[in-house]
Amino acid sequence: MITVFMFIIGLAFGSFVNAFVWRLKKNKNWVSGRSICTYCKHKLASKDLIPVVSWLTLRGKCRYCHKKIDDSPLTELAVGAIFASSYRFWPFVLSGEGWFMLVVWLIAVVLLAAMFLYDVKWMILPNKLTYALLALAIVQVLILFVIKDFDFETLKLALFSSAVGGGLFHLIYLGSKGKYIGGGDVKLGYAYGLLLLDPILPWLALIVASTTGSLIAIFLLANKRAKFGTKLPFGPMLIGGVLVAMIWGSRLWDFTGRLWY
Ligand SMILES: [Zn+2]
Repeated sequence: MITVFMFIIGLAFGSFVNAFVWRLKKNKNWVSGRSICTYCKHKLASKDLIPVVSWLTLRGKCRYCHKKIDDSPLTELAVGAIFASSYRFWPFVLSGEGWFMLVVWLIAVVLLAAMFLYDVKWMILPNKLTYALLALAIVQVLILFVIKDFDFETLKLALFSSAVGGGLFHLIYLGSKGKYIGGGDVKLGYAYGLLLLDPILPWLALIVASTTGSLIAIFLLANKRAKFGTKLPFGPMLIGGVLVAMIWGSRLWDFTGRLWY
C-alpha cells in the first residue's frame, strides 16, 4: 500500500522534474511562475498537469497549439518507479534514522532525475544541481554525526566514500585536461560519494555506469547511429549507477559474495 503511495508521489515529483529543468535552462524563477507550453507559451491549466493522465488524454499534444509535448511521461513513470523501489527495497531498517535517510535519498532522487534529464537534453550537468546535491549530502552527514552521538566513524566513512566517488574522476580530469571526463562529472562524483556514505557503493555505481555505457555504445555502433569518437554524456549512466548502488547495492554485494565464497 505504501509502495503504491510512493509511486504516486514519485509521479508528481517526476512531473515537477520535467518542468524544473526547463525553468533551470531558461533561468526562470521555479518556485512561482506557472507552467506554460514550450511552443505556444499558453498557460497550462491544472487539468493539463496531471502526471501521465494528461499526456494520455491529450495523446502527447498541447491542448492549445497541438504541437507534440516535449515533456515525456517517461520521466514521471521513472521517478515514480524509483520512489516505489526505494521504499520497497530500502537497505536500512525503517526506524527514525532509516526514515531520515530515505527522505534525504528521495530528495536526492529528484535532483538526480533533474540532472539526468538536463544532461540528456543539453549535454551538461548544471552546477546548481550538483552543488545542491553536495549540500544535501553534507547536511545528511552532519545530522547523522549528531544523532549518532558524535560518531566519527560516520564522518570518516563519508569522507572516504566521497574521495572514492570523485577522486578517480578528478585524476582522469586533470590527466586528460578535461578531454575524457567533464568537470560536472567530477563534482557529481564527490557529491554522490558523500551521499552514499559507503566507499563500496561509488565503486559499484562506476561499474554499473561503465557497463551500461559500453553496452549503449556497442548498440549505437552496431546500429550505425554513432561512430567512434561520438560523445556520449557519462552523467546519465553515472546517475543510473548511483540509483542501482543505493537501492540494490547491499543486496548485489551479498549475492556476489555468496557466489564467490
Ligand atoms: Zn502549445
